[in-house]
Amino acid sequence: MAPDRGIEGQTSICGRTYEEYLDMIMSFHGHVAPGVVLGGFMVELAWRHRPEGEFFDALCETRACLPDAVQILTPCTIGNGWLRVINVGRFALSLYEKYSGRGARVFVDAVKMDPFPELKAWFFKLKPKKEQSFDVLMEEIRRAGVSVCGVEHVNLDPAFVTSHRRKGFIVCPSCGEAFPLEEGPVCGGCRGELPYLPRTGSRR
Ligand SMILES: [Zn+2]
Repeated sequence: MAPDRGIEGQTSICGRTYEEYLDMIMSFHGHVAPGVVLGGFMVELAWRHRPEGEFFDALCETRACLPDAVQILTPCTIGNGWLRVINVGRFALSLYEKYSGRGARVFVDAVKMDPFPELKAWFFKLKPKKEQSFDVLMEEIRRAGVSVCGVEHVNLDPAFVTSHRRKGFIVCPSCGEAFPLEEGPVCGGCRGELPYLPRTGSRR
């Protein structure tokens, strides 16, 4: 398939028109965030380059925006476990075959951003938000499409591919709530891994 340059009238994002996708972002994400728009092109590119297979899981390398593009355009969600996020802060995602771990990884290629100065300034936070032009930015994202992205074939570690399958749950001796038994003798909450301040009231 020829690369989609995002030319007006020819833009398609996972079978939706560009305008349909913007409406979907609005209802799911709350506002048309540039990162979710760009993310849609990235999901489209990964889908085009996916290996053979029937069932695909997704991995996002940032929490920002990209997971919502995956959740809008694919059956993979955080809740069903088919989308996982490892937040290393790279604006990149992979779609991979759920058993073999073979997949396509799409990332933003900074070098390819030079023809799109507003997009580059937004991506690298080169200027304060009030100096950005949202309209110019959106137009550049639309024109850029997948052309600012790179794609590579990847193989995921089998330990990662199967790691989300829980072995069972036990009741924490400290808080009395159930937690995954592989976590250790007490739950992560009681180990201080959650940001709650010490309780002042009683629990009901
Ligand atoms: Zn506990």
